[in-house]
Amino acid sequence: MCCGHLPLKLLWRRGINGYSADTMTEPDDTPFAADAYFLGPKSENGSWIRGEFQAILDHWFDWRRSLFADDPEAISEARRLSPEFLREREVLGQELRHLLQMLRSEVPKFTPRYIGHMVSELSLPALLGHFAMLLHNPNNTSKEVAKIGRRMETEAIAMLAKMVGYDPALAQGHFTGGGTVANFEAVWRARYRLDHALSLALVLAERDGDALDPFAAAHMGWQRFEELKQQREVDDAQLRVASMVLGNPFDVAKRISLCAGRDYRGPVLITPGNKHFSWQKAANLLGLGEDSFWNTPLDQEGRVDMAALANNIAMARDQGRPILCLTSVAGTTEAGEIDPVHKVADMLDAHRQNGVHIWHHVDAAYGGFFCTLLGGDTEKVLAPEQRKALRAIARVQSVTIDPHKLGYVPYSCGAFITKDEHTYRASSFQAPYIDRADVDDKWRCTLEGSRSGAGAAATWLTGKTLGFGPKKFGAIIASGIEARKVFQDDLVKANPLVRPLKPADTNIVCFSLAKPGEALSVSNARTLQTYARFQAHPDFSVSKTVLGANSYSALIAAHVGTYNGVCDAADLALLRCVFMNPFWANPQTRDYLMPRFVALLAEFSD
Ligand SMILES: *Cc1c(COP(=O)(O)O)cnc(C)c1O
Repeated sequence: MCCGHLPLKLLWRRGINGYSADTMTEPDDTPFAADAYFLGPKSENGSWIRGEFQAILDHWFDWRRSLFADDPEAISEARRLSPEFLREREVLGQELRHLLQMLRSEVPKFTPRYIGHMVSELSLPALLGHFAMLLHNPNNTSKEVAKIGRRMETEAIAMLAKMVGYDPALAQGHFTGGGTVANFEAVWRARYRLDHALSLALVLAERDGDALDPFAAAHMGWQRFEELKQQREVDDAQLRVASMVLGNPFDVAKRISLCAGRDYRGPVLITPGNKHFSWQKAANLLGLGEDSFWNTPLDQEGRVDMAALANNIAMARDQGRPILCLTSVAGTTEAGEIDPVHKVADMLDAHRQNGVHIWHHVDAAYGGFFCTLLGGDTEKVLAPEQRKALRAIARVQSVTIDPHKLGYVPYSCGAFITKDEHTYRASSFQAPYIDRADVDDKWRCTLEGSRSGAGAAATWLTGKTLGFGPKKFGAIIASGIEARKVFQDDLVKANPLVRPLKPADTNIVCFSLAKPGEALSVSNARTLQTYARFQAHPDFSVSKTVLGANSYSALIAAHVGTYNGVCDAADLALLRCVFMNPFWANPQTRDYLMPRFVALLAEFSD
């Protein structure tokens, strides 16, 4: 076990909410009241938050009244209070109550009994920021329809950029509908970059008779591109005729093949086997066939296998197929694992030394907020390798972060961020490089058009209060990781069938239910049956995941080996518990819920 440093242990034993704001007379080590930043499963913070919601409404009403104060009212009292309209109001009221009644059956993600997916109780700063901005409804696609909304976005993106170690003055980015779209943004830009480099190389080959190596050319990097373009006097009109984005890609590919002396088979997208499904969608959307979507095998711990990755890069080079983009995952969707981003970055740095610039994107949709642990004692809840990996996000070209997951922000709120402005540009020779002014007005360079400002405000208010550092936000995240560890230990002690998936880097525990020596097919059936029973029972929400042998064979073999099981099935079925809500850190909550969970698990796995 890697954890267990004093301040956290202390905070753990006393319970994070051991001290509320009014009883805070403790000396310096008084723990931060992380859970007090949430409404609470019993609406414990209800009266405070009712006041803040009221303040938002008061502001909203007053803003309207005070703006153009001399203008006449538009809706007369006679119309508002006519008997006909009063009947309309009644219907609206009834239907609203009908909606509210139906919402009582919505999935209750606020309770600590919800440990299912990557969502939990929202933080109050996020909820208040979202609600305040929602009422103003800016369209962040353009500053013409969003003045403050855009400003919030710029500031909030800078906060997230700083969180992952980028220089906030250089980084660029925007909020998206979620991690899926943010991942698309990376591939979209990488495609433009590739097109620039290849077009230039094709012009030089056709016009001047240069040799053309599509792999080398595609990875020349922006600096070399600018230099070459200038030195060799190639203008945009010439590039346009050689562009796959602007011309017919099949015709251009033929010309590349001719100059290269071998068939040009297009670029590849390299992702690790633990990637999220959105990468398949990205490849598909950009017209890459299965043949161009390369999976890097995983090691025994479910992380990208470095030798296999080196092999994939070498294979792309040998086949003359440029690497559109190479992805690492920080916080896998299945198990919250963190890829060795630092090792991948080292490998790509070595290629860069040889003039091969490969776009490295980190999909930190889930795990980006683990960076808030860094720099404080809190970081010791993570193993040293995972800390190094998170610190290395600062070195990569672009990153996806989902505030609507581990940021405790309402849906829909993802973010795409690049290390610098050059990487951010999405431009063809047709629409020349987007200049500073246009980066300010985002509609040209975002996949989405109209965009809400609510996520930006939610993230902004979170940053202003909880901050994205170790003291407060990091303490919440650390409490989730600690909760996962205690839960896992207690579960293993209580039920001999429980087989946790190792290593469990963060706040997610996956486990199967197996007897010693048992066949995997038998334990899979038990695990899935137990999951189905949990689904049908309201007391606890857990999720399940099935790891496929095509990516996870080494990890599956290691897992089954821990109880001398027999690998007679291709896939591994697991129950999955995500510890995001801050309430399990409270010993009373844990002592109350744990025996109930244990009893239910015993009943369901029988
Ligand atoms: C959730 C997730 C995504 C997709 O994000 P959405 O917000 O659901 O679109 C992408 N990558 C990873 C690693 C994720 O966990």
